Amino acid sequence: MKEPRGYEYTTDLLVVGCGFSGMWAAMRAKDFLDDVLVVDKGPRDWGGLGGLSGGDMIVKQPDMNLDDLLDDLVYYYDGLADQKLLGQILTQSYDRFMDFENWGHKFVRNDKGELCFIPQRALDYMRFYYYHPYGMGGIDKARLLKRECEKRGVRRLGRVVITDVITDGERVTGAVGFHAQSGKPVYIRARAVLLATNTGGWKPSYHQNTPASEGVSIAWNAGCAMRNFEFWKVWNVPVDFAWEGQTGLLPKGARDAHELAKLFEATSTVLLT
Ligand SMILES: Cc1cc2nc3c(=O)[nH]c(=O)nc-3n(C[C@H](O)[C@H](O)[C@H](O)COP(=O)(O)OP(=O)(O)OC[C@H]3O[C@@H](n4cnc5c(N)ncnc54)[C@H](O)[C@@H]3O)c2cc1C
Repeated sequence: MKEPRGYEYTTDLLVVGCGFSGMWAAMRAKDFLDDVLVVDKGPRDWGGLGGLSGGDMIVKQPDMNLDDLLDDLVYYYDGLADQKLLGQILTQSYDRFMDFENWGHKFVRNDKGELCFIPQRALDYMRFYYYHPYGMGGIDKARLLKRECEKRGVRRLGRVVITDVITDGERVTGAVGFHAQSGKPVYIRARAVLLATNTGGWKPSYHQNTPASEGVSIAWNAGCAMRNFEFWKVWNVPVDFAWEGQTGLLPKGARDAHELAKLFEATSTVLLT
C-alpha cells in the first residue's frame, strides 16, 4: 500500500490537548456536536499532566460559603489569584467531584461515610479531598475520563503536534501540525478549535513541570485577544511556608546549581534557575 504523504481530518470541534481540561471539554461538547476530535502531541492515552498528578481536589462543598473558600485561596496564592474566575470554577467543583465519584473514583471517606480531607496550610476551607492509595488518584481519573470520552464517541489521536491554527478572516477554520513520529504533515478542518494545551491558565501549579504547551503562541500568532496573563507563570507558593517541598527544594536546587556554575566558570554555561 502507498504510504500517505500526510494526514487530513475533518471535525466539528478540534480540541488540542488530551489533558483533563481537553477531555472534559470534549465530553461536554459531544452532547451537542456530532463530531469532536481531541489530539495530543503525546500518546493519546496519557491524560496530560493529570495522569501524573495525585488527583487531589479542592472542592467547594455544598455547606461551604464561596467567599470563605476564596479568601483562603487568595491567601494560598499569595494574593495572586483571579477571584472571579476561581469563583466560577469552584462553584462547579462539587458537580465535577460528584461526577468522578459516580464514575467510580474513590475519594477517601471515614467509617461514617464522611469525606476525609487534608487541610492545606492550616486554612479552614482550603482542603484537599484525596484518593487511596494517596498520590495515585490522577491516573485513575485519567482512566475514567478516557472511558467517558470513549462512551460518548469522542475521537482521540496521539502524536499530533499542532503548530498553527488556520484562519479565514476572523474565523478559525482548522489547524495544522505534524505527526510526532513520522514527521508527516497533519491538516485538520474544524468549525471551531479549542486550545486546551495548558500554560496561560489560571494556575500553572508546580511551576516548571506544568507548562507543557505551545498553545499560547499558537493563539497569539492567530491574533487572539489574550487576557489574565497577570496570573500566568506566577510563583504561587507563599513565602511563609518554606517547609513546602516546592518552596524549599527548588531554591535549594538553584543554590546548588549556582555552586556548580562556579566550577564551570571557564566555560560560558548558562544556568536557568
Ligand atoms: C506531579 C504533579 C502532581 C499534581 N497533583 C495535582 C493534584 O493532586 N491535584 C490537582 O488539582 N492538580 C495537580 N497537579 C496539577 C494538574 O495535574 C494540572 O494542573 C492539570 O492536569 C492540567 O490539566 P490541563 O488539561 O490543563 O493541561 P495538561 O495536562 O498539561 O494537558 C495539556 C495537553 O496538551 C498537550 N499539548 C500541548 N501543546 C500541544 C500542541 N502544540 N499540540 C498537541 N498537543 C499539545 C500536552 O501534551 C498535554 O497533554 C499536579 C501536577 C503534577 C505535574
